[in-house]
Amino acid sequence: MDAITKNSYQKFLFDFIRFDILVSCPACSKKAVVKPGNFEFGNLEESDIKVICSHCGYNKKLSDQAAADVHTPHKKADTTRQIVLGDAIDPFFHLPLWLQTDFEKYTFWAYNVEHLDFLQDHIGAKLRERNGQAIYNRSLGSRLPKWMTSKQNRAVLLKKIEALKDK
Ligand SMILES: [Zn+2]
Repeated sequence: MDAITKNSYQKFLFDFIRFDILVSCPACSKKAVVKPGNFEFGNLEESDIKVICSHCGYNKKLSDQAAADVHTPHKKADTTRQIVLGDAIDPFFHLPLWLQTDFEKYTFWAYNVEHLDFLQDHIGAKLRERNGQAIYNRSLGSRLPKWMTSKQNRAVLLKKIEALKDK
């Protein structure tokens, strides 16, 4: 947890990694699912985090992977350090997210449909233009990258979101 540079957006992203995360299967490249189990910061070893592919049967636990990939006896510290938030990879296995697409020089991505729905609402300005929204929604909207909330990008991004939902 100490190694993670936390800002409000990352704290917010954390809410979405409690849901299943959609990734590209490392074995067959089709849609696989990272199950966060009961993941909590500081409690990684007791969580049953795993990646499962229903297409090819790929199935791996984070605890197995960490033991194999990390060349140090300090397993707990290393697995914690490897949690990555805020990039187009899942935070645990670092597999490419299934829900990602290029937009100009950027990569638009979401961890799961819940996250995608949220971004769709913000980019569509539904939440921003409504009164009485939860505080975290308003504050997050102001922390999304400018290219995401820019009015001139809205139509293209919303189309891309629709395409991702059908992926
Ligand atoms: Zn697979």
